Amino acid sequence: MDLVKSGDTIGFIGLGIMGKPMSENLIKAGFNLLVHNRTRTRADEILEMGAQWRDSPIQLARECDVLVTMLSDSLAVRDVVLGEKGISKGISKGGVVIDMSTISPKATMEISEKLGELNVSLIDAPVSGGVAGARQGSLSIMVGGDEDVFQLVVPALEAMGSDITYMGGSGSGQKTKLVNQIMVAVNQNGVAEALVFAEKAGLDPNKVIEACKGGGAGSFQLQNQGPRMIEGDYSPGFMVKHMEKDLGLVSETSEDIISPLPFTSLASQFYRALMAEGKSEYGTQAIHSVIRRLNSIEPN
Ligand code: NAP
Repeated sequence: MDLVKSGDTIGFIGLGIMGKPMSENLIKAGFNLLVHNRTRTRADEILEMGAQWRDSPIQLARECDVLVTMLSDSLAVRDVVLGEKGISKGISKGGVVIDMSTISPKATMEISEKLGELNVSLIDAPVSGGVAGARQGSLSIMVGGDEDVFQLVVPALEAMGSDITYMGGSGSGQKTKLVNQIMVAVNQNGVAEALVFAEKAGLDPNKVIEACKGGGAGSFQLQNQGPRMIEGDYSPGFMVKHMEKDLGLVSETSEDIISPLPFTSLASQFYRALMAEGKSEYGTQAIHSVIRRLNSIEPN
């Protein structure tokens, strides 16, 4: 395969909260996009922008050498890539699948091996930066897989992200994303706890953000999620069920490598509490409501 360039055809599967703006950026960068999504109506807007619909992953794969997947979890990626009507049944030798979902490093390595038997490469390229990063094309992209193949698809990744880091062999991108999620979960819990503490101490939490954001406590979570916590805006963004999935993957990997994670284990209980309340599709910033209740303050 040659270096991908504007004007080439790329297949895109998974037009959810993240996949939709990411696919839009590929179109804006001049790629010719063929798309598929389990629920067809989610493709309406991207089709209006000029993408073309295909009824199944296999149909897409017959027409593209490079395919991007942005799906919920390991099961979905396995099904879309290796299932009966999956990419692997239609893609040509030398093709590349770029999986940008957050899934298990182990599953990634297994899928990579299966594709390898067909002379097809899997690049794991999970992302961080949220919906805002997806819209702005400024995602951080953490890449694993064959480095030469990665170099060939860099122009496609550059349409979606601004920080693109090659981390090593298959699964290294996913492992890096788990590292990222440890930091996000612990930091997000710290921000939520601090903002509730501020409220109880009689401070204006908005002013607290202003006062702290430029100092040592400044963070993406404080600046982006802090105001939403204070407003009680718990819409997604990044859904609780996806964080629950990611922290499950962190826990599984920590057992494999025997790495105690005391802070992450505690932080994960706040997302679990939201799951127990039936709020799996709320944004993760809703942990603020759990901490408010611990403080006997009614949720916003
Ligand atoms: P989402 O809105 O729930 O989208 C998930 C996508 O996967 C949808 O297109 C969905 O199809 C598809 N899907 C799920 N199960 C499937 C299956 N069994 N077969 C085929 N398609 C299936 O989630 P998202 O927020 O875009 O997240 C996507 C991935 O990015 C997740 O791995 C998440 O952890 C990761 N991520 C999310 C964020 C964020 O801020 N949202 C940030 C970084 C990384 P339908 O439309 O039919 O449901």
